[in-house]
Amino acid sequence: MTAHDDTLIFQRSRNGRSAAAQAPRPQTRPVGIPDALRRRSAPGLPAVSELQVVRHYTRLSQKNFSIDTQFYPLGSCTMKYNPRACNSLAMLPGFLDRHPLAPAEHSQGFLQTMFELQEMLREVTGMSGVSLTPMAGAQGEFAGVAMIRAYHRSRGDDQRREIIVPDAAHGTNPATAIMCGYQVREIPTDASGDVDLEALKAAVGPQTAGIMLTNPSTLGVFERHIREIAGIVHDAGGLLYYDGANLNAILGKVRPGDMGFDVIHMNLHKTFSTPHGGGGPGAGAVGVSKRLLPFMPVPVVVRDGEGGYRHAAEADYPHSIGRLSAFAGNAGVLLRAYVYMRMLGREGMTRVAEFSTLNANYLLAELRRTGFDLAFPERRATHEFIVTLKRQAKETGLTAMDVAKRLLDHGYHAPTTYFPLLVPECLLIEPTETESQETLDGFVAAMAAILEESRTDIDTIKGAPHRLPNRRFNEVAAAKRLDVVFRPETETGDAPEAENARTGTHG
Ligand SMILES: *Cc1c(COP(=O)(O)O)cnc(C)c1O
Repeated sequence: MTAHDDTLIFQRSRNGRSAAAQAPRPQTRPVGIPDALRRRSAPGLPAVSELQVVRHYTRLSQKNFSIDTQFYPLGSCTMKYNPRACNSLAMLPGFLDRHPLAPAEHSQGFLQTMFELQEMLREVTGMSGVSLTPMAGAQGEFAGVAMIRAYHRSRGDDQRREIIVPDAAHGTNPATAIMCGYQVREIPTDASGDVDLEALKAAVGPQTAGIMLTNPSTLGVFERHIREIAGIVHDAGGLLYYDGANLNAILGKVRPGDMGFDVIHMNLHKTFSTPHGGGGPGAGAVGVSKRLLPFMPVPVVVRDGEGGYRHAAEADYPHSIGRLSAFAGNAGVLLRAYVYMRMLGREGMTRVAEFSTLNANYLLAELRRTGFDLAFPERRATHEFIVTLKRQAKETGLTAMDVAKRLLDHGYHAPTTYFPLLVPECLLIEPTETESQETLDGFVAAMAAILEESRTDIDTIKGAPHRLPNRRFNEVAAAKRLDVVFRPETETGDAPEAENARTGTHG
């Protein structure tokens, strides 16, 4: 990889230096490792002092955009503040040191916490049962569609081969349907952002296993015909899947269960605020309606009268789709979500919905006033909304990518770009409820400055970002030929032997 001067700690390496003072000292030499598998040479670690290590990683952390340092309006991803209390309580020694195989009688506190989390999620979604085991949103989707498949099979209904997915859907939806062995039938969205009902009516039939929807949709609008959609799909014998990655806009206001959905996954790391990004950690709890209860992934925490709490598994759920994670899911994330929900309480949940939609609608109005076009100008925002730069791209050449890159120079993380796919040159903007009005105003000012600059100096924008170590990446190469292995060709300092470096270092 081409590294910026101070990106790689190996470039500070000088033979003889070390930072061993903090290393845990093994009590005994590890035994039982066959001789052939033992290392012959020293690992290719950088030789640096402790102070160099501290400075290096502190500096790297400051190069990052993060929710703890900057406004991060990444649509669909819900980068809201993660309250510190969630961390400290989830890391109480009783939780942290508990062995996952500890017997139920030694784990009553943990199990009660998980049981109450299931109950709270059941309550906010209006479903009949909840399983906490999926480890990510996408895995929750897999669990949900696997339950739909198990349901149809249990009835001997084997002709249902299709899952209907609107064109606005998150990419994980069609991917999930395919992973579960279904064919995807895409249906269009109408000009106002709702599902095209005529297209839906034409698409359903005895081959329909179900539909995957989210409401609000990833277009940032609330699907107004959801009852009618539920009727059409149910009448055809299909089930309704709710992508509940982001419940921010509806918490305490509307429940997917009441809208007619049969199964839902929730991204606890988004709505219920645990630190996430870059691929983890996550938790994708699933909720189900009555008819899908027998198929839930196990284990599920149950309360046996006075007998206390325990994990119910295959013996209790013989029709379960099975296990999705080692043990019982991502305990650290689940505990944080539990604390978050307890801190908010019933009343706080409602405020999340009110302030996330207020912030989104404020930002929407301000950006419109500034001269940006909305993808759905006649619709109110939910927790997020879409700006389209189709007109600017034609007039001045300013694209969504340009705005995203120039925003970095202004100190803001970019909104989501080029998703949903059906809106050209789009920015999907999600301010979340935890931002102040000053922050939102600062963002609007930056957006206004970029719009103005696009009329006078588009070249500066095209070269952005100017204040970060790297400019623009070749995105295709970055995705297809990603190479983050350090090879010490650069000859700075006494670089370690190549073979060791290759096995031991990631950029
Ligand atoms: C984030 C997201 C997902 C996927 O969740 P992961 O935890 O990243 O797997 C699915 N659907 C929508 C709408 C999302 O925003």
